[in-house]
Amino acid sequence: MVNMNDYLEQAVEILAQLVHFDTTSHKTNLPLISYIEEILKDAAVPYSLVPNDEGDKASLFATIGPSGPLGIGLSGHTDVVPVEGQEWHTDPFTLTQKGDQLFGRGTTDMKGFLACMLAAIPAFKAAPLQQPIYLIFSYDEEIGCTGVRPLVNQLGKDLPMPSLVLVGEPSNCQVVEAHKSITSYVTRIIGHEAHSSLLHQGVSAIEIAAKLINHLTDAQQQLKSTQNDARFDPAYSTVHVGRIDGGTARNIVAKDCEFLWEVRALPDFDGTEISQTMMAYAKKDLLAGMKSISPATDIVTEQITSVPGLASSASAVSLGMKLANQNESFVVSYGTEAGLFEDQGAASVICGPGSIEQAHKPNEFIDRAELVKCLSILGRVADHQSS
Ligand SMILES: [Zn+2]
Repeated sequence: MVNMNDYLEQAVEILAQLVHFDTTSHKTNLPLISYIEEILKDAAVPYSLVPNDEGDKASLFATIGPSGPLGIGLSGHTDVVPVEGQEWHTDPFTLTQKGDQLFGRGTTDMKGFLACMLAAIPAFKAAPLQQPIYLIFSYDEEIGCTGVRPLVNQLGKDLPMPSLVLVGEPSNCQVVEAHKSITSYVTRIIGHEAHSSLLHQGVSAIEIAAKLINHLTDAQQQLKSTQNDARFDPAYSTVHVGRIDGGTARNIVAKDCEFLWEVRALPDFDGTEISQTMMAYAKKDLLAGMKSISPATDIVTEQITSVPGLASSASAVSLGMKLANQNESFVVSYGTEAGLFEDQGAASVICGPGSIEQAHKPNEFIDRAELVKCLSILGRVADHQSS
């Protein structure tokens, strides 16, 4: 049995280094990746990088132990959300300890987990591993889980396929087995401009947008009355319009209008149905009338991002609970990379230190006790892979 308490101070030290790299999603993560590479080289752990097309960011995949099946992956993203506009009482990029709380951007989401992974390397190396442990570091998670995709596509090809991936998003070290999918869209309406006194000669893009949004509101009501998965709050899929821009002046029939919207769908519901139904309604009830006034009018819906939902397999949940020393599992309302691993064929659950309550907020912190819990989970991962 590996005793992981000895690794706590090392984890805190590494966390301080990780927090110090400003890896806000729009910036490079390469200095942080180089730091991880140094740790891996010192420990003689083989790894490979999966860089992005621009060459300013990279994911990393490391293997500890023998190659072979039944590997367990530990996965976390290196990027953090911006601190701009937030009121921080300490420097967000300097780890600051107050009592048992460690403050800094990313401490909870999710450099605390990365620090535990890296601090545990000597324990993983010392364990008589029979099956491998993989360390996976991604980027651009906070802008739609985009950065991990090229790496995930390599699993089972150039990179080994883990039999289980623990995605260490903040869950207070409890096992999370499901979350909704998130698909976001922009819908653009091209109307036809006219003086508002000659209303009949124009097509108001604003009016068309209002009709489409009404359609989405009806769809939402429909979902609310037909879906009920009590594990989730709310227990149904949701449709939400978050932003609208359009029009020029009070007395001009609006030529342009666009709105941003999203669907958060229960894992077993195909959220793209909503946009298909809306566009079918547009085609059937709106476009012909618009085009009879001006053929240049149009309604275009573009998908911006898509994060698949998560519905972990029963075997993944039971192994996750064993490793986390828990006897129940939960669902969460935020999206993660876990669904991408699942879709590729790597069973996946979420389990990581810290509370989602602290994520993305000013004065983000993690409790030392959460790091202790996380390190014991990693100790159980080592034990499990050694038997
Ligand atoms: Zn996160």
